[in-house]
Amino acid sequence: MRIRISDDAAARACGADAVAEAFAKAGHAPERVSSWGMHWLEPLVEVDGVGYGPATPDRAGDILAGNADDLCIGSIADHPFIRGQQRLTFARFGRTRPLSLEDYAATGGWKGLERARALGPDGTIAEVLASGLRGRGGAGFPAGIKWRTVADARAARKFIVCNADEGDSGTFADRMVMEGDPFMLIEGMAIAGLAVGADKAYVYIRSEYPHAVAKMEVAARLAAPMIAPFEVEIRVGAGAYVCGEETSLLNSIEGKRGEVRAKPPLPAHEGLFGCPTVINNVLTLAAVPFVLAEGAKAYADYGMGRSRGTMPVQLAGNIKYGGLYETAFGITLGELVNEIGGGTASGRPVRAVQVGGPLGAYIPRTQFDLPFDYEAFAAADGLIGHGGIVVFDDSVDMARQARFAMQFCAAESCGKCTPCRIGAVRGVETIDRILAGGRRMGTLETLPQIHNAPRRARSAEDEIALLRDLCETMKFGSLCALGGFTPYPVLSALNHFPEDFVVESAQGNAA
Ligand code: SF4
Repeated sequence: MRIRISDDAAARACGADAVAEAFAKAGHAPERVSSWGMHWLEPLVEVDGVGYGPATPDRAGDILAGNADDLCIGSIADHPFIRGQQRLTFARFGRTRPLSLEDYAATGGWKGLERARALGPDGTIAEVLASGLRGRGGAGFPAGIKWRTVADARAARKFIVCNADEGDSGTFADRMVMEGDPFMLIEGMAIAGLAVGADKAYVYIRSEYPHAVAKMEVAARLAAPMIAPFEVEIRVGAGAYVCGEETSLLNSIEGKRGEVRAKPPLPAHEGLFGCPTVINNVLTLAAVPFVLAEGAKAYADYGMGRSRGTMPVQLAGNIKYGGLYETAFGITLGELVNEIGGGTASGRPVRAVQVGGPLGAYIPRTQFDLPFDYEAFAAADGLIGHGGIVVFDDSVDMARQARFAMQFCAAESCGKCTPCRIGAVRGVETIDRILAGGRRMGTLETLPQIHNAPRRARSAEDEIALLRDLCETMKFGSLCALGGFTPYPVLSALNHFPEDFVVESAQGNAA
């Protein structure tokens, strides 16, 4: 009897360790594998290919005795959630032991690196360019162009930096890759190193991911002979959203304060320790072994328009079937939320979804026919970001969500530029005044030394106009995406849900 239980952090948080222990006590040692990504079924136990979930330790005996029909989901590989996916990056998930070099090699591991070695740097970059692979961290910049720039730079030393500071709300794909298939990420970095002439990679992981850090450290040691002379070093971030921004991340690795650097110079020219550096997200680098092993066309055949390949979408928030769903670009938002995600967990109607992390736009149900595609989202004033979708039901207060976005920016601002550092604080105050019906909330304007401050309070309409103006300033005046993208959630909440910003007239415009 072959029993498998995931050792992914999400499964462990749901009690997978206790369930595994119960099976061990019953005389069966379960194999700890990567996660299928069906989080609503965790802890998911697989017995000879058949799944049972969510399992509890007291049901281990029932599962072994065949008395757990209520938990049985049939063959996991044939479950509609899995069967409907196009798993290229997540193909091994649920099937292999994360730190088994044997499992990795037996499932096509190292083939991409082997082919890259045969093709050489130019051939490898040509493959990545032809695949259409774009940075999965948020900006969507073509990976091959970044690699070509670093390859062409003249320098004694070059670096690969893997951005694993996954800070967006509702995202967990990077963590799953590091915990579930770390050799794939290491292979992707080694291919990148070979392509651009770098002999060292740094993986910058957020400190909130201790399991991922532990797995990556062991995996880097185990994989060392396979990738030599290329080396991988793990660095743990102290915890700041802005350190996901590539130039702050570089500062942080260098031991400096995590503050954004002005560009130019681009990191591709002067990056880590002043050397040309490729900075890619985990998902970007994890897609590379497939591109090289199966060829650029095999990857580019998936997707729509200029968004080629697949995207590991993370379904989270108030959603019935939350988890990891990898699919080709082009699927609609409505299909993802309603059909695959099953709507809300609360059973109430979906009101909005936020796509792309805390700085992503709130999208109403009326736009659920929006295809998952970089350009389509940009045209709708949204962003795909890292592929996180957070679902809200009709009990959500969108004005509060807009306030949260400003507050988040104020808390996480690195302080380098004024639109973000001051603007976010003013944004919170302005939304507070709107929520209070235009009354003053004790801002700086009330201080006697501000002689030119208006003597009477603004109306709620004027406050909203001021908020929009502030958003424009932040969007176009901020140095990096934190300040520049905060207007997305704020303005989308204002534009799509204006009713939430209206206050009872009795509170009205009192001074
Ligand atoms: S936008 Fe904010 S986080 Fe980015 S550089 Fe300016 S102050 Fe720092």
